[in-house]
Amino acid sequence: MSFRWLALMFCVFLLVSNNQLQAQNLPDSLAAEKQLSQRGEVYFSFPAKIITENPIEFDALSRYISIDSKDDQYVYAYANLYTFHRFLELGLSYHVLTPPSLQCDTTRWKTILKSISDWNYYPSYSEYITLMQQFAGKYPQLCTLDTIGTSVDGRLLLFAHIRSRKSLPDDRPSFMYTSTMHGDETVGYVLMLHLIDYLLQNYGTNTQVTNLVDSLDIWINPLANPDGTYAGGDASVAGATRFNANGVDLNRNYPDPVAGDHPDGNNWQPETKAFMDFASSHDFVVSANLHSGTEVVNYPWDTWQKRTADDAWWQYVSREYADTVHTYSPSGYFTDLNDGITDGYDWYWITGGRQDYMNYFHHDREFTLELSMVKKPDPSQLPSFWDYNYRSLLNYMKQALYGIRGKVTDSLTGTPLPAEVFISGHDTDNSEVYSDSVSGYYYRPIKSGTYDVTFSASGYVSKTYYGLTISDGKILKQNVKLAENANGISTNKRVRIHIYPNPTLSIIKIQGFTKVALVSVYNLNGIKIIEKSITPDELIDVSTLKPGIYLVRVYTTTISMTKKLVIR
Ligand SMILES: [Zn+2]
Repeated sequence: MSFRWLALMFCVFLLVSNNQLQAQNLPDSLAAEKQLSQRGEVYFSFPAKIITENPIEFDALSRYISIDSKDDQYVYAYANLYTFHRFLELGLSYHVLTPPSLQCDTTRWKTILKSISDWNYYPSYSEYITLMQQFAGKYPQLCTLDTIGTSVDGRLLLFAHIRSRKSLPDDRPSFMYTSTMHGDETVGYVLMLHLIDYLLQNYGTNTQVTNLVDSLDIWINPLANPDGTYAGGDASVAGATRFNANGVDLNRNYPDPVAGDHPDGNNWQPETKAFMDFASSHDFVVSANLHSGTEVVNYPWDTWQKRTADDAWWQYVSREYADTVHTYSPSGYFTDLNDGITDGYDWYWITGGRQDYMNYFHHDREFTLELSMVKKPDPSQLPSFWDYNYRSLLNYMKQALYGIRGKVTDSLTGTPLPAEVFISGHDTDNSEVYSDSVSGYYYRPIKSGTYDVTFSASGYVSKTYYGLTISDGKILKQNVKLAENANGISTNKRVRIHIYPNPTLSIIKIQGFTKVALVSVYNLNGIKIIEKSITPDELIDVSTLKPGIYLVRVYTTTISMTKKLVIR
């Protein structure tokens, strides 16, 4: 049963049951009903004073409705039927707004002469599929098409995988662009098609493009939420929705470092699950997810006020993105917040976002790119957006190449090793990186500076390189040979074990081992409270423990380590 059908059924209930709504705000309530029944989501605003007057209520609200943006006066948000009903229970005043995808005059679009070479139109769904197939068909040496899954309504989740056949096959950092997980934010969708086309057409003639395609493993997904984008039918993006076909905001649906596996209270959507599987099977070094609605680079974290270990690097690459845009665009474009860049939390707090998920759980560097104030501008403007942004998009891809990189191997056999690459006094909140378990290659983008870097692998003696000095835009190659530890147990306190969520309320999951682990939970007096043998997917119930700090010891045939756990 589709969400939209359910929405129709329950709208009647919503209006009849909410007297307060009818009394206070009749026209808006009818407009809300119309949007919910036709589109499965409602776009509305409410006064921003709640943020200062009742921050706790606003925090709670932000967990279930989907905040899109805010200014001094208003918060702009989307909700589905259930979450809008919860919002109404607060009794706040609100206004229902015309959805961004319906704000433009789409009749005019018919007069535009479609030009693939200019990318000045929004394709239909079938045109999109054809375009993606043509890329792979026309450039078989450079591009393959990968379907990572299907959406709720069975549309394809596609990646163009771009890499030349030249050079060493495995010493390539993986880079990813993905766009339009909010289905009504369509600028990035066309820009990514344009980027694929640009990379393929210019390979071999343009030096910068050739270098990127020769030295990176590039993955581009132009359309992460096809059901949202084609909510009005496959023929056109007119009528696109933010949410997927189940009425879920995909950029609130990911495991969160603070709020745990399901911060939005929804199951992982098919689009989310497909993406999580995909991210788990590729070690992305740098990535971005593209949106519109404002014009800014939003760098991590979204969920925490604290900064990432690589805040200086984030400011540097974000500034480079925005400043390059400013050089090639009219004044006034891409100047939101701090002249086009912001820390995510400073702008507004969200949980369950893709950016934090990739950074925290996959040790990736991902930012959120907001390309256009108007979510779905007239397609005739798309070539201009491309022109303002493409140099920055290419520069950002290059960042995956820079920093400290090399290969970790066994000192005797030369076998590639999966090792942790940890920078003392710098890395925190999972900012460390790991070498690939098959190839042994690692990539650590980092701001210029001098660093002490420790390499550790389970069963091997750790090795630290002191005072490695790196400059911006440069590569420092450091290959590492590790010697096996005689007793077979890692002496390193930091192996790749994660406990999450941490802090937690009731359950924890332990990641980073393959077969079975013996887990013991101790209080700070050293008294063992829980002991359990677990398999990798097994959860541990800690709901009986009082709030406070505990120590968790994880023991396997190759790992013996202790980590801190906070119960809220
Ligand atoms: Zn968005």
